[in-house]
Amino acid sequence: MAADTASDEMLIHAAREFARSELQDRDRRWDRGEGTVVEVLPTLAEMGFFNIVLPESCGGLGCGYDTYAAIIHEIAYASPSAAVTLCVHNMVGHVLNLFAPAHLRETLLPHWGEPESFGAFAISEAGAGSDPSASRTRADRHGDSFVLNGEKMWITNGLTGRWFVTLARTSPGTGKNGLSMILVDGNAAGVGRDPIHGKMGIRGSETAVISFSDVKAPCDNLLGEEGEGLAVGLTALNGGRIGIAAQATGIAAACLDEMIKFAHEREQFGTQLSSFQAIQQMIADSAVEVAAARELIGYAADLIDRGQLDPAASSKAKLFATEAANRIAYRAVQLHGGMGYVNECRVEQLYRDVRVTTIYEGTSEIQRLIIARALLKDGVH
Ligand SMILES: Cc1cc2nc3c(=O)[nH]c(=O)nc-3n(C[C@H](O)[C@H](O)[C@H](O)COP(=O)(O)OP(=O)(O)OC[C@H]3O[C@@H](n4cnc5c(N)ncnc54)[C@H](O)[C@@H]3O)c2cc1C
Repeated sequence: MAADTASDEMLIHAAREFARSELQDRDRRWDRGEGTVVEVLPTLAEMGFFNIVLPESCGGLGCGYDTYAAIIHEIAYASPSAAVTLCVHNMVGHVLNLFAPAHLRETLLPHWGEPESFGAFAISEAGAGSDPSASRTRADRHGDSFVLNGEKMWITNGLTGRWFVTLARTSPGTGKNGLSMILVDGNAAGVGRDPIHGKMGIRGSETAVISFSDVKAPCDNLLGEEGEGLAVGLTALNGGRIGIAAQATGIAAACLDEMIKFAHEREQFGTQLSSFQAIQQMIADSAVEVAAARELIGYAADLIDRGQLDPAASSKAKLFATEAANRIAYRAVQLHGGMGYVNECRVEQLYRDVRVTTIYEGTSEIQRLIIARALLKDGVH
């Protein structure tokens, strides 16, 4: 992960400064249930982070995915919750730019950098997680509108989000045929939002159940072709997984810094922990894994910037970065001993926050399936 230009370098630097000075303490409060990331949405939007990858012609910053990943890494270092919030909103903007009809692009994208445009991505349901083709939410045509009925689960940004990119069944039957992606206005009549409480981590981010009860969306809000909803979702997740991988490296880098600091401070057997080779190995292994993850992210990001759809590349980056970040958070707790087990110590929270990265936007098992399928089909190049 690296900056493409000097102005990208400045953006990454601004993200780093802002995250460490303004987000880290807040994120600790959000973890205790005192507020949510929503309190900083106007500032994040003002800094341009709502609109990182959209082209400048649409009012975005026009950054490549490499720079995008570097910004998310810096935000996640201080606030994993703010990072996932931005990941989802940016992903939705990217999907609209690629798949929305001209009238929607013209009306929505110029405002995508504003907090009022806050976006969410609604694929999962209680019975459809790793297998979105099991989605049961329906969108039936009535005149020039779709009428949606059903329930989406686990929706990030779901409480405050205005625009929901929603996977729904537009023709009868089961399986992957007949599913379409539709943009739903969260202000429409019949949209219900219920918070999901009791999350292990990223407690500052919103996670909600979204219900649709005879919710109307214009047929013109179809994203891509009717019946091609899963393909639209796959393209979205191809970029989305870069964001989650970068969220994981940000958390891992924070863990690594906490490990180094504590290894210098703490003394046992009359000497600093940093003098023990077992401790040095934990630090070295973690540093190598963060660096390797960032290289995989950079490779996948470059493919997206060149317009090449290679889901296996994004899956490799997400799989390695998120699994490595979990190992690093485990080591960070271990290195802190008993202190690592109490909330006063930041690694306790990071250990919980990082856990979800191997679950959302496709579990590690699903990433392995995507990687293996590509290899079995095309071989190794
Ligand atoms: C905090 C949070 C935020 C989220 N945000 C969003 C969001 O904004 N939008 C959205 O649409 N969804 C969101 N999700 C949902 C998330 O993407 C799903 O939880 C995830 O895809 C897994 O689906 P599931 O929970 O139904 O697990 P399941 O699919 O039931 O999987 C259970 C286990 O079985 C394994 N498994 C399933 N199928 C296979 C297989 N074929 N081979 C091997 N193993 C398999 C899985 O890897 C997992 O270990 C979020 C989830 C969380 C926890």
